Amino acid sequence: MTALIEVKNLTIQFRTDEGLVTAVDDVSFSIDKGQVMGLVGESGSGKSVTAKALMHLNAKNAVYGPKSQIILHTANGPVEVLKLKSARDLKIVRGGAISMIFQEPMASFAPAITIGDQMVEQLMLHSNMSKAQARDLSVEMLDRVGISDPARRFSQYAFELSGGMRQRAMIAMAISTKPKLLIADEPTTALDVTIQAQVIDLMKDLVREFHMGIIFITHDLGVIAQTADKVAVKYLGRIVEEGPVREVIRNPKHPYTQGLLAALPKLDDLDAPLTPVAGDIPSPLERPSGCVFHTRCPKIIGDVCKSKLPHDTQVDPTHRVACHLHTEVPA
Ligand code: SF4
Ligand code: MG
Repeated sequence: MTALIEVKNLTIQFRTDEGLVTAVDDVSFSIDKGQVMGLVGESGSGKSVTAKALMHLNAKNAVYGPKSQIILHTANGPVEVLKLKSARDLKIVRGGAISMIFQEPMASFAPAITIGDQMVEQLMLHSNMSKAQARDLSVEMLDRVGISDPARRFSQYAFELSGGMRQRAMIAMAISTKPKLLIADEPTTALDVTIQAQVIDLMKDLVREFHMGIIFITHDLGVIAQTADKVAVKYLGRIVEEGPVREVIRNPKHPYTQGLLAALPKLDDLDAPLTPVAGDIPSPLERPSGCVFHTRCPKIIGDVCKSKLPHDTQVDPTHRVACHLHTEVPA
């Protein structure tokens, strides 16, 4: 296995009027070429902030912890993303090795420029292509993501496309520069179920064809089950469980993962009551002490959970969990 990107001890806080707010807390993971990692959790768990860090794209008031490291492995050797400063260097990651697609494609397209002109402009910025070559490739990519009559769509504006088609156009634009890693931030959330399934299939095809790594961000563990090879479950900025997707879904170890799974509709019993995780995610301004999940945990085992941060325990070589129930000696 070849690591494409490694994230080590990533901690991100934001300076606010109320003080420093922790959004990402000591997060480590890696993604290999051709691997799809799902990043799952409720809103406020720091999923998007984590993803943006991979392109060094967080707002100016973001403060990175001193041990934070993001290493992108390229043909020219490893690149430390968080040390990239100039716009020229940042092009290595932004729209170069890494592309990102969002929940709302309208936000990715300038309203007064045609889809095609935007694709061409981006391609010319990141390659030595001529305008004619960039145009041909753009039309080809629109075709590749299943947009019919791509030459006509090329000349249209984002508002002229349906929601599902815009999503496809955004994916076409994101992959036209042949990124090594595609970050998909809730790409299917705004879509109806049929189109959602088509977009998921499309992304799986792209992994096979281009051997890209993908980070698939969602609050929906059901979507992860269909798309990802491995999954990291986030809660209040921390990864509480990580492992191969089948293993985590069949054998969830963390009470939060168990709660997310219990809240999914059962295909064999659609009338069964859904049991969502009780309570609300606490404000990041009031981070619980000890285990960050203890204020909602149905399995809390007492003071140790309120006072001591559970560290990662490997339940097997590829599956880790941060919960005192699985610490060998909870001390
Ligand atoms: Fe629940 Fe304690 Fe495990 Fe946290 S450490 S998830 S509170 S049992
Ligand atoms: Mg988000």
